[in-house]
Amino acid sequence: MTGLLENKVLLVTGGSRGIGKAIALRCAEVGAKVILTWVSHEESAMDVVHEIHLKNGSAMAIQADVRNEDDVKQVMNEIKKEHGKIDILVNNAGIMKNNLLLMTKTEEFDLLVATNCKGPFLFSRAAAKLMLKQKSGRIINISSVVGVYGSKGQSVYSGTKSFIIGFTKSLAKELGPLGITVNAIAPGFIDTDLIMDVKDEIRRDLLSNIPLGRIGNSDDIAKAVIFLASDLSSYINGQVLGVDGGQVI
Ligand code: NDP
Repeated sequence: MTGLLENKVLLVTGGSRGIGKAIALRCAEVGAKVILTWVSHEESAMDVVHEIHLKNGSAMAIQADVRNEDDVKQVMNEIKKEHGKIDILVNNAGIMKNNLLLMTKTEEFDLLVATNCKGPFLFSRAAAKLMLKQKSGRIINISSVVGVYGSKGQSVYSGTKSFIIGFTKSLAKELGPLGITVNAIAPGFIDTDLIMDVKDEIRRDLLSNIPLGRIGNSDDIAKAVIFLASDLSSYINGQVLGVDGGQVI
């Protein structure tokens, strides 16, 4: 895979931990110039940058809340100043909150929608402006298997991940003619901080439904991102790639 993303400028939101961190590290290993954002874990973000620099890669970290339009503008301005272009946007930053409908507070709904839906909207709009000038680009959105199939106790979180799928397909139609592909990845159960609170019995139950017999890791998703970001996928547009060990077939 060496060189698959040579000199490509790649922005990954939420690159300080979990899946976003793996995307930043693995894409840098195959040549991408990485910009990663974080919101609260500065030290983790700086560790990722340091790790990339140690391997002679290119990386910078910017604090930016995906819910905040001014932060998004600032990120794009810094990318323009530093690199003059953006080739790949990975809308990864996200939060999960689980609750039955009747227990779900309006504030929880607002927070999930602002982070998981408004964030990708703001970043896609800003990145597309630059990509249009280049007449090329890749947008990769991180959805979830629950966005495709639903999940009891996760109606709002699932809903935000379903939004990502409709958004991806619509953007693929809108931006495809302009040289930009837009695809989504639907991860299954991936071992990160996000699922830290999932109870052992639920883990065991989920595991029994995964034909590959293991929970996924962040690198499983990063490898799919490299595929969708590289020339290997140049004729793939508007697709949702399940990366879930066969959890949902
Ligand atoms: P983590 O909780 O491990 O990491 C979340 C990342 O998002 C962190 O880098 C965090 O930054 C960032 N982030 C959170 N809120 C904001 C915000 N308001 N603005 C900017 N950045 C923010 O999550 P995962 O790595 O597990 O999840 C990444 C994506 O994958 C999410 O979209 C999630 O929904 C999706 N996903 C995850 C699955 C799983 O099983 N783990 C399954 C399916 C989908 P900071 O470190 O600064 O807090």
